Amino acid sequence: MRRPVFIANWKMNHGPTEARAYMAAFTARWTPHEDRTVIFCPPAISIGVVMHALGSRRDIAVGVQNVWTEDAGAFTGETSARMAADAGARYALVGHSERRHVFGETVAETALKCAAAVRNGLTPILCVGELLAQREAGTTNEIVLNQLRAGLAEVGNESVAAAIIAYEPVWAIGTGKTATPADASTVHAHLRGALRERIGDRAAAVPIVYGGSVNGGNAESLLAARDVDGLLVGGACLDPANWATICGTRAAKG
Ligand code: PEP
Repeated sequence: MRRPVFIANWKMNHGPTEARAYMAAFTARWTPHEDRTVIFCPPAISIGVVMHALGSRRDIAVGVQNVWTEDAGAFTGETSARMAADAGARYALVGHSERRHVFGETVAETALKCAAAVRNGLTPILCVGELLAQREAGTTNEIVLNQLRAGLAEVGNESVAAAIIAYEPVWAIGTGKTATPADASTVHAHLRGALRERIGDRAAAVPIVYGGSVNGGNAESLLAARDVDGLLVGGACLDPANWATICGTRAAKG
């Protein structure tokens, strides 16, 4: 049985002042739930404030939205996995569609970023997803399996078994369009198949979460789908009350 995972991606929203107010509102309404994992991915500049707001609470974890491939050095403007871990992050989003399609991140860089995360004790949340034209051309599986295999190429099998995978169709991110639960389920099953080829039966324990215009209205049906083990949410996590509602989504299969 995989514990559902709820991941909030604040994107480039909520600097330190807003983050402080947000976390006060969220922690006041969210009591620890043993049956699920909640992860916040604030902008790197707000990680310290979020960690401070969490205090001794261990039921909520923090991730960084992106890391650079190296641990330190002359890379102005970048955040390393080593620094994110030092700030309290336990997870790292890698290969988010905005990194790939807005900032031109290559699959080779994605692989090195996963390796940097693992090297510094962070769990990678590897994001994969197809463009609309690729879906329409029927190449979704080929695209996402390539992103998955290539993204995990530089890490060992133990780290693959401990990773989180996020299926995020690019056409669904921030657009109000969502994959149907059945379509998401089909892609997730293919992803799990590819994980099985790499790590055998341990693939059954790897959470594969869905992202793309998830909100309070569609979260339950998506989470009910087979092989959908959680949700990665952008726009709808920006309000603490909305996010608490989504984190409380009933997680029953079938
Ligand atoms: C995301 O940023 O990963 C995402 C899924 O965004 P949204 O929920 O806004 O589509």
